[in-house]
Amino acid sequence: MKKFLSIALIGVMMLGMVGCGGSAPADENADAEASSSLTITEGKLIWGTNAAFEPYEYMEGDKVIGIDAEIADAIAAKLGLEAQVENMDFDAIVPSVQTGKVDIGLAGMTIDEKRLNNVNFSDTYVEAGQAIIVKKDSGIKSSADLAGKVIGVQRGTTGDEYVSDEANGVGAASVERFANGPDATQSLLTDKIDAVVIDNEPAKKLVENAEGLVKLDENLTSEQYAIAVAKDNEALLEAINDALQEMKDNGELQAILDKYLNA
Ligand code: GLN
Repeated sequence: MKKFLSIALIGVMMLGMVGCGGSAPADENADAEASSSLTITEGKLIWGTNAAFEPYEYMEGDKVIGIDAEIADAIAAKLGLEAQVENMDFDAIVPSVQTGKVDIGLAGMTIDEKRLNNVNFSDTYVEAGQAIIVKKDSGIKSSADLAGKVIGVQRGTTGDEYVSDEANGVGAASVERFANGPDATQSLLTDKIDAVVIDNEPAKKLVENAEGLVKLDENLTSEQYAIAVAKDNEALLEAINDALQEMKDNGELQAILDKYLNA
């Protein structure tokens, strides 16, 4: 454990040094600096995601597909780059953007106060919210019935935060945190938990993909998804916002959403 920690620390220190090397004195070639700040790996736009979040990102064979995958490809193409995915746990994405392991976090990620302390967010590309999944005859009809229940969430998500924050008055008996949605619904199917709280569209897909589950109509929150970019990478943030705007203006974004979202 200790050994792992010190290796990790050296890694962070090295990243810090790379960072210092990047912020060259003002009299060095400004153009070279601006373009090198666009990406970590030349020619690539590396996007960090958790590919167990259908319809935004999920596996088809060994390929990551979905709304965010198509957005990543489209933005990369506009920037003259090639999109390359890094699949990881959801709660590893923001740290990976911070350390430069990935260029962007694109993962159905909600703009959130705490995350804004660590990364910047692009303009919003979709509106979302948290939904409740239960077993068909659970007797749980609305959020009011969640009091005293064991609720499953995806670790480190806004759903986790919503259920765990006592100020929201959910009143869960306990909160079980899973690596992803499918793990949570699996636990629901085997009666280890009473309900799952997760983003609305992924909730629809989870219910479609498993026999015996229903999604309640109620939306618990109102959220905006956006792309996470490192705090010091203003150039990339701007380029991404320009690309997103173009995709909104020419209908490209809507076409991607229509392809994956059922009304
Ligand atoms: N929108 C939620 C969040 O940002 C969940 C995202 C996800 O699980 N990929 O926390």
